[in-house]
Amino acid sequence: MRMAAKPLLEIVLASPRGFCAGVERAIETVERALIEFGAPVYVRHEIVHNARVCDDLRAKGAIFVEEVEEVPPNSVVIFSAHGVARRVEDAAAAARHHVIDATCPLVTRVHLGGRRYVAEGRRVILIGHLGHAEVEGTLGQIETPPDQPVLVVADVAEVEALDLPADARVAYVTQTTLSVSDTRSVIEAIRRRWPDAVGPDTRDICYATQNRQQAVTAIASSVDAMVIVGAPNSSNSNRLVEIARTAGIPARLIPNARDLEHGFLKGVRRLGISAGASAPGVVVDEVMTRLSEWFELKVTEAQGVREEVTFRLPRGLGDTLDKIAQRA
Ligand code: SF4
Repeated sequence: MRMAAKPLLEIVLASPRGFCAGVERAIETVERALIEFGAPVYVRHEIVHNARVCDDLRAKGAIFVEEVEEVPPNSVVIFSAHGVARRVEDAAAAARHHVIDATCPLVTRVHLGGRRYVAEGRRVILIGHLGHAEVEGTLGQIETPPDQPVLVVADVAEVEALDLPADARVAYVTQTTLSVSDTRSVIEAIRRRWPDAVGPDTRDICYATQNRQQAVTAIASSVDAMVIVGAPNSSNSNRLVEIARTAGIPARLIPNARDLEHGFLKGVRRLGISAGASAPGVVVDEVMTRLSEWFELKVTEAQGVREEVTFRLPRGLGDTLDKIAQRA
């Protein structure tokens, strides 16, 4: 009996997609620490927001904890790419841990900007999502007078509800993984209330976030639906889903290939695929394999910005390269 031919599905891959320089650096930091110091090494919080990445590192000997107080004294402790509050740094120092700080340098830049504004006597507003690890870290890195804590706002309504006088000297910083367009409207709301407010505009939103958002926007008008590979707790992945939906197409966040449902593709002839900055490329490959079980695929990759950003590994990984060479 002849098998029925599979229906054709055109795939448009957004470019760039997937790992950013900060995520690659953070993962490499854990891998190199495992080689240099041996297992276990402790990682505070998910090194990046992706269960697949963490499971792989766990299998190699990483132990993930939420607080350094869970770690035995004198251990190797790695801080995740999202950054940590000063109290976490202090707790790690008090327990005499060997700390390797994998905070993304672009997150550190936000911390430094916030501190500079406080030193100028400004009241700092942090645009971001309360409860996200990066926001918690940033709040804990910008020391303020006790009566002038950093204020966190997520949207225009929260700016309008802020209890600050019209003559307050205001500055703002942002989480690195926000939607560029939403953030712009929040900044406009801040400037409407405090016209002299200073801040980096949307430049705190990192290059990788901006490029991935642009790439989704670029293909959204030419596809019927979009799949974004990424974890449910990945801020930048969720923003990609929102951007696709705002462009008027159905979009799904898919942590793993098995989460892709055939029903979602009903009536879809052209499917866009992207991946958040913490999503491994192998999951995109697995999504393609799953799709190929159902469809004849015709795959094109959109033209996009070429990323050449790399970051040096953090301090604390001294002789790693020599050790790798010895083991080779
Ligand atoms: Fe750094 Fe941006 Fe990647 Fe976050 S998304 S780790 S800020 S490069």
